[in-house]
Amino acid sequence: MKKRIFNETKLVIASHNKGKIREITQLLKPLNIEILSAYDLGVDEPIENGNTFEENALIKSSFVSKKTNLPSLSDDSGICFLDLGGEPGIYSARWAGQNKDFKLAMSKIYENLKNIQNPTYSCYFTCSLSLCWPDGHHVTVSGSVYGKFAWPPKGKKGFGYDPVFIPLGKKQTFGQMSPEYKHRISHRHKAFKKLNKLCFPNLIM
Ligand code: IMP
Repeated sequence: MKKRIFNETKLVIASHNKGKIREITQLLKPLNIEILSAYDLGVDEPIENGNTFEENALIKSSFVSKKTNLPSLSDDSGICFLDLGGEPGIYSARWAGQNKDFKLAMSKIYENLKNIQNPTYSCYFTCSLSLCWPDGHHVTVSGSVYGKFAWPPKGKKGFGYDPVFIPLGKKQTFGQMSPEYKHRISHRHKAFKKLNKLCFPNLIM
């Protein structure tokens, strides 16, 4: 992975997901640059036909960077269950259907786990971040956080699958934790730590 220090004044977050845009904007605040999103700029979402989180992250960052002629940062993430052979994985958003109904997606996981003999309930969130410049150079990294499935869902502070995920060694779900606390231990935080070393050396998280 070739490092490149980010010296630009604008960055487009390649997402239409309000929860993710909010979290990433917050994480990048110390950069003091103009943060835009693909949603704000009316740039559509590309077809995510990669086989891994990293491939999909790169598809999104390179698509938005080309369309806007600005550097773009994407996040492809999701939750994987060992008892379900890694599902929903890269299909985490799709399990919520067109209405983005995560209550439905969390219930689907619960129903699927009920059919497993001796489930471990072990799962992890993964986040791949891809920063792409208009000349095509990109830096793509990943981070994961391991935990257990919790049922029923608890907490309203997060988004997506946060209410059913208890990180290892903790008692609360991501949904019950303050965003600041979640950021200190999350898959996204771990991926950012790696990205910062390669591109944002002055960004302390
Ligand atoms: P995508 O990366 O846009 O394909 O969407 C991944 C999906 O995974 C999101 O819509 C979320 O539901 C879920 N996801 C990713 N990161 C998190 C997280 O930090 N908390 C809860 N759900 C997440």
